[in-house]
Amino acid sequence: MTQEDQDVILTCTKHPNRETLICCNRCDQPICLDCAVSTPTGYRCKDCVKEQQKRFNSSLSRDYLIAAPAAFLLGAIGSFLLYQLNFSSLITAILLGIGLGTVIVRLVRYLTGKRRSKTLNKLTATAAGLGGAVPILRYLLIFFKMLFTGNYGVMIGYSISVGWGVLYIVILCSTILTNMRGFSIQKR
Ligand SMILES: [Zn+2]
Ligand SMILES: [Zn+2]
Repeated sequence: MTQEDQDVILTCTKHPNRETLICCNRCDQPICLDCAVSTPTGYRCKDCVKEQQKRFNSSLSRDYLIAAPAAFLLGAIGSFLLYQLNFSSLITAILLGIGLGTVIVRLVRYLTGKRRSKTLNKLTATAAGLGGAVPILRYLLIFFKMLFTGNYGVMIGYSISVGWGVLYIVILCSTILTNMRGFSIQKR
């Protein structure tokens, strides 16, 4: 192939019968529109994108072992505080969810040496959610006891308490997931 041919007709590396004008901006291979992945820095071939994603998954197995209990513990502390600070539960649930979520993300980032992976994000959020559910279990148990003894008036009070706990967990988990995802985009 002469230099001129290369300039005039480029064909996709994976589909030699398809002409294309796009080249991967990392490895410079010509790629057709089906093979091109649009990234914030331009078109890339699928191989390069895959390789890039591998670098995103830098978490080591010990990171999971550290992150999960830390998130679980802090999630539980937040939920415990929610039931101790018994004023204006709606605001307390929101503030604690956002606050503890932010603290957990920072702590996990610190403990894991800023390594990252999608699994770590999900694991941290799940562990925090489970931790947050521990103090609620007590209320759920009482709730079911009331259900069987027919003490319905008190039951409503307890179901509201459980509701605040669930709200706290939802906000906690979404704060963690949003913040951790934000990190991976920033540090491309
Ligand atoms: Zn490439
Ligand atoms: Zn192609």
